[in-house]
Amino acid sequence: MHNTIANHLQNTLSQISVAAKQANRDPADIQLLAVSKTKPVSDLVLAYQAGQRHFGENYVQEGVDKVLALAHLNDLTWHFIGPIQSNKSKFIAQHFAWCHSIDRLKIAQRLNNQRPQDLAPLNVCIQINIDNEPTKAGIMPEALLETAAAIAELPNLRLRGIMAIPQATPDVAQQTATFLHLQRLFNQLTERYCDVDTLSMGMSGDLAPAIAAGSTMVRVGTGIFGARNT
Ligand SMILES: *Cc1c(COP(=O)(O)O)cnc(C)c1O
Repeated sequence: MHNTIANHLQNTLSQISVAAKQANRDPADIQLLAVSKTKPVSDLVLAYQAGQRHFGENYVQEGVDKVLALAHLNDLTWHFIGPIQSNKSKFIAQHFAWCHSIDRLKIAQRLNNQRPQDLAPLNVCIQINIDNEPTKAGIMPEALLETAAAIAELPNLRLRGIMAIPQATPDVAQQTATFLHLQRLFNQLTERYCDVDTLSMGMSGDLAPAIAAGSTMVRVGTGIFGARNT
């Protein structure tokens, strides 16, 4: 088990490196977020021992339990990437450094009000429902600039970019078209906001086209920790 996670992590980092070089990009410009939802704390520790420092969690209670269990590792960075119910936003504001899944202004306002004053501003990405799927969270692309303008005003949040979970497809041309659409939306924000530097896209199955289209943060679960049971 120890070797499996360390090996998978190395494999993922080399996939990132190969994809970056093919796209004439510096691999150091692409951050790997290890998505550890449903996995035990012991698996996160193995990834940590293999050098991983950024972890992404989808469920508030599970994520907070892991943040507290690993509080002695003070160089970890925790990212919340799951759907947000407003009655749980306080726990995200209190325990995470990043939130990638801002899908409505009301949630951003709550996180802003609930962010403890002794913590740095919460880094946030706006989630885009890029394929207009009724079952997925996220704002429509047309609403991005208006939502971003409102979020940029909130003092306890720092708008860093956008995140999306495209519709799963084995068709690389379609994956690429979707990622290029996200890149255009991202560029609209970088033109307007100097803090915006994060294009959170690409998962275990579509790392390479995401990196070719400019991803700066890939979110990998299965590729590091193996299949999830739940
Ligand atoms: C689960 C999840 C991932 C990781 O997916 P894998 O296919 O296991 O790499 C990435 N992003 C989000 C938002 C997720 O919920």
